[in-house]
Amino acid sequence: MTASIIDGKAFAAGLRARIADHAAAFEQAAGRKAGLAVVLVGEDPASQVYVRSKGKATLECGMNSFEHKLPADADEATLLALVEQLNADPAVDGILVQLPLPAHLDEQKVIATINPDKDVDGFHVTNAGRLAVGLPGFVPCTPLGCLMLLKDQLGNLSGLDAVVIGRSNIVGKPMAQLLLAESCTVTIAHSRTKNLEDVVRRADIVVAAVGRPEMVKGSWIKPGATVIDVGINRLPPAEGESKGRLVGDVDYAQTLEVAGAVTPVPGGVGPMTIAVLLRNALVAAHRNAGVALAD
Ligand code: NDP
Repeated sequence: MTASIIDGKAFAAGLRARIADHAAAFEQAAGRKAGLAVVLVGEDPASQVYVRSKGKATLECGMNSFEHKLPADADEATLLALVEQLNADPAVDGILVQLPLPAHLDEQKVIATINPDKDVDGFHVTNAGRLAVGLPGFVPCTPLGCLMLLKDQLGNLSGLDAVVIGRSNIVGKPMAQLLLAESCTVTIAHSRTKNLEDVVRRADIVVAAVGRPEMVKGSWIKPGATVIDVGINRLPPAEGESKGRLVGDVDYAQTLEVAGAVTPVPGGVGPMTIAVLLRNALVAAHRNAGVALAD
């Protein structure tokens, strides 16, 4: 048996096209473009790449992108004042502070300063609480993207056994909440879980968000299960390579032989994250402007 490959890149492209249509309709209705502000502190190369691609994608789908760069040694008061200024700016619907922040800045304090109704990353405790109790809010982009791929692949998820490996606030925990809201029977595994293989073997749905290259083996997967690989890990370069291959948390070649469907790395979950960020920004714009979102 060979699993079907879940094409996150194609799904994300379709989502971005729909967002562009909605962004144009929003501009007509509200008399202004939706706007997303991204704040980058310091010069971390990976963060610079993410911020650039978020800005480009925002403009491509017809929204305004506001980029704010602060030096690596910016103090907390300066960053918090910038966030407050963006909170008060009616042209800014969504605010994203690129993480990680330099070590001298308190991430939780910065996130807590963002107006929850502009918190398009869904990291504010108010949005985590809204997700936990089933109120509308903003859900972190990566797990929401995983859920979209799962529903597209499987339709109704009700009653399925789901195992989420990883319990971070940005991926594992919100993923588990989303699956619970879909009436899955959810198990959250982590570094202290005993007999992880046996736990994973029960699952109709496996979401791996660990950060350990190819940790989940094909032999752990229940035949026919759907496997979502969130991990992005770069292997050390092999001989003759300038940089190493990107792999997920799942042994992809082995899993292809057993699973019903699996996301590749790259080209699976990764492209969904920015597409969902744009979706969240557009939803924020509609809510902030009091404009109904067309179907
Ligand atoms: P974290 O490091 O915050 O969390 C990792 C989780 O994995 C923790 O809960 C940890 O358990 C658990 N874990 C670690 N080792 C094991 C093990 N041996 N067995 C079982 N569980 C283990 O990572 P993130 O959630 O931020 O990210 C996870 C992965 O997803 C990374 O590879 C990251 O690069 C990728 N990622 C990809 C995104 C995308 O857009 N595709 C977006 C965000 C992340 P414990 O809590 O006990 O320490």
